[in-house]
Amino acid sequence: MERIAYRGKSAEVDLTAIDRIEKGLKDIAHVLSLMDEGSFGLCKVCGAPIDLSILEQAPTSTECSIHRFTRWR
Ligand SMILES: [Zn+2]
Repeated sequence: MERIAYRGKSAEVDLTAIDRIEKGLKDIAHVLSLMDEGSFGLCKVCGAPIDLSILEQAPTSTECSIHRFTRWR
């Protein structure tokens, strides 16, 4: 929680919620750019097609089932 000024008053705001929303918007913009490039649905690590079941649940996924939970970075 962080205290911010709002309309002349002080308010407690959970900035982690705003950070999550901001990251979500960045993920969506990135996926839209992948669609433009024609590489949507391909793993950014190995280039393999991402399982449809993963994309159905998380359309912003950029890793296949193998690389999704591995720390390759
Ligand atoms: Zn992969």
